[in-house]
Amino acid sequence: MKVMAQMSMIMNLDKCIGCHTCSVTCKQAWTNRSGVEYVWFNNVETRPGVGYPRGYEDQEKWRGGWERTRRGRLKLKGGGRLSKLSRIFSNPKLPDIHDYYEPWTYDYDMLLNAPQSAQVPVAKPKSLLTGEDMKISWSANWDDDLGGSLETMQDDPILQKMSDEVKAEFEKAFMFYLPRICEHCLNPSCVASCPSGAMYKRAEDGIVLVDQDQCRGWRMCVSGCPYKKVYFNHRTGKAEKCTMCYPRIEVGLPTVCSETCVGRLRYLGLVLYDADRVAQAASVEDDQALLQAQRDIILDPNDPAVIEAARAEGIPEDWITAAQRSPIWKLMQYQVALPLHPEYRTMPMVWYIPPLSPVVDVVTGSGNDGEDARTLFAAIDKLRIPIGYLAELFTAGDIAPVDASLRRLAAMRSYMRGVSIDDIRDER
Ligand code: SF4
Ligand code: SF4
Repeated sequence: MKVMAQMSMIMNLDKCIGCHTCSVTCKQAWTNRSGVEYVWFNNVETRPGVGYPRGYEDQEKWRGGWERTRRGRLKLKGGGRLSKLSRIFSNPKLPDIHDYYEPWTYDYDMLLNAPQSAQVPVAKPKSLLTGEDMKISWSANWDDDLGGSLETMQDDPILQKMSDEVKAEFEKAFMFYLPRICEHCLNPSCVASCPSGAMYKRAEDGIVLVDQDQCRGWRMCVSGCPYKKVYFNHRTGKAEKCTMCYPRIEVGLPTVCSETCVGRLRYLGLVLYDADRVAQAASVEDDQALLQAQRDIILDPNDPAVIEAARAEGIPEDWITAAQRSPIWKLMQYQVALPLHPEYRTMPMVWYIPPLSPVVDVVTGSGNDGEDARTLFAAIDKLRIPIGYLAELFTAGDIAPVDASLRRLAAMRSYMRGVSIDDIRDER
């Protein structure tokens, strides 16, 4: 067993209100510069939706996509035995600026200096790249809040024309928010695909970074990352990505997105993992066995054998204590949190607590939000957000782990509603 430490994050999706504060504060801190106008190290997607960049989950869309080796591992088509030079020229299709969006500003002069007219002057959008007037056709999270419901659209004339069948379908509309940062993967394909050795994973805390002096702008990392979380700075010609705010982490501060999150939904902490088993877990062929394999490499920081092995690897004592106090391994261990797209096999280390939405029948019937555990347990297959949709996101389509996670959440919510703050204080 080779014990290593990893900075990880778990986001509780029930709490995300889609305010984008995390994205904006991250942008102000890290990408408020020319060359990265279109870049959001942290973005918040509306689900169902196409994400940012558009369609990033459609691995076949990018030229070549992925293929499985005879050993069952996923690799980029066109990679492998080719020389470094030919790999550069066979760089699979990259998202272009329109897949992200062409960044713009507004022509505020129009507001101040417009000639007198019957119309109120407006500030026209102007491309930040070309300076030309532009017609905005797409932006990050352009599909924001496209979900709807009968309740919110009672007066909508379109709704009044709908047949009962369509209305019945419409009642099932759902949406939720999915905030995303780089996953700081245990098996990072961006690092594996970088021909110049510029991408690296820090040994001490697993944060994945780009050495700006080494980067030659070949962008293999952009195509190599299945989450499309490496970006190209078109001014400097170098790759850039989420740094997990390492200068803050090093002085004991949380990441900017965690600190400013309005919903307080981001748990940030250290976990200990068995580095000897990463390659083995990443090679598990059966998609359904993958999640358990990923959970198994996260170690119990209270286990004396793990503590001893961590000390032998030189992990500082206060880091071991931090891992013991961290809620992260407990949420993974107790099968509440789930990784995003484990089938990409990069071993992502930003996990999610799936949203425990209300039961549809109860909402449309009595107006009761159906949040007591008995109602939820009896109708877990009738949740507003279909369990199959969550399974596609978090468990490669396997319903059982999502079902288990939602049931635990239902039980926990019910328990917490039965106790008062004073009871909890007493327990402590
Ligand atoms: Fe690399 Fe992408 Fe994983 Fe981040 S999410 S570590 S950029 S492979
Ligand atoms: Fe969601 Fe928090 Fe970001 Fe707001 S700040 S969008 S609540 S993750």
